[in-house]
Amino acid sequence: MELWYTEQHTENVNFSIKVDKQLYSGKSDFQRIDIFDSKEFGRIMTLDGYLMLTEKDEFIYHEMITHVAMCVHPNVRKVLVIGGGDGGTVRELTKYDFIEAIDLVEIDEEVVDISKKYLSQTACKLDDPRVHCYFEDGLKYIRRVDDEYDIILVDSTDPFGPGEGLFTREFYGNCFKALHEDGIMVNQHESPFYEGDAYAMQRAHKRICQSFPISKVYQVHIPTYPSGHWLFGFASKKYHPVKDVNWDRWNSLGIKTRYYNTPLHAGSFALPTYVEEMLRDVES
Ligand code: SAM
Repeated sequence: MELWYTEQHTENVNFSIKVDKQLYSGKSDFQRIDIFDSKEFGRIMTLDGYLMLTEKDEFIYHEMITHVAMCVHPNVRKVLVIGGGDGGTVRELTKYDFIEAIDLVEIDEEVVDISKKYLSQTACKLDDPRVHCYFEDGLKYIRRVDDEYDIILVDSTDPFGPGEGLFTREFYGNCFKALHEDGIMVNQHESPFYEGDAYAMQRAHKRICQSFPISKVYQVHIPTYPSGHWLFGFASKKYHPVKDVNWDRWNSLGIKTRYYNTPLHAGSFALPTYVEEMLRDVES
């Protein structure tokens, strides 16, 4: 008998991965958590049936949510990660010796526990002494914070269920407030391709533009996400993500990556015409 994990990407499109076995299935206070083993993609984590990460392609997502902002900002000391309980974003941040503190605000402690148990590839740096975990709703946490962080990385689920509040105007406004005067926020920005994702992407862009003076979008290729074409938002108080970058400074750090590099960083802000048009439509 064959076992397949299937995610519905639209009413008319399904995406399936053959799995060897289900290693864990449980329900936390916030969501259902499942872990599978597969030949093609290694270990897989899904939340409420939606694919969050696979061992084979998670490096793309986690490098690109992290290193773009880290390359642009010249002086990072303190970083906030909202969501990201699998630890992949934290793992990328710990590659920088000069970061002094990494705060992880994850609503669901069970995601962290399950990731430590089954996803050692992503969770391997969650015990780094610079990492402080707060198990709380990011929407509530950020209300209390003023002028505290150099970078905020919003590594969230999609804009429904527990992740919904992380796509609101209130949240983006509070992220602006929580950042230093030259701070940068990067967020998981959904996909431009299928109608439902594109709507969420445009709505998020509109709201971020209302909160930050510089609001750009960059693209990545993530094979296991709907359509494979995914976006991140880059919102900044001061630095432009391509014009204000010292590429040599980042390259001299010797950070090891498999997807991210500085020419790709610059190129990822060059978007297809239909995506540019979608963004322009909501910018005014
Ligand atoms: N890093 C993953 C990847 O490779 O695509 C992405 C998703 S990560 C697992 C998303 C996390 O955001 C989940 O663990 C979820 O519990 C958390 N989350 C959702 N809503 C949240 C909220 N309001 N505050 C804090 N964390 C939240």
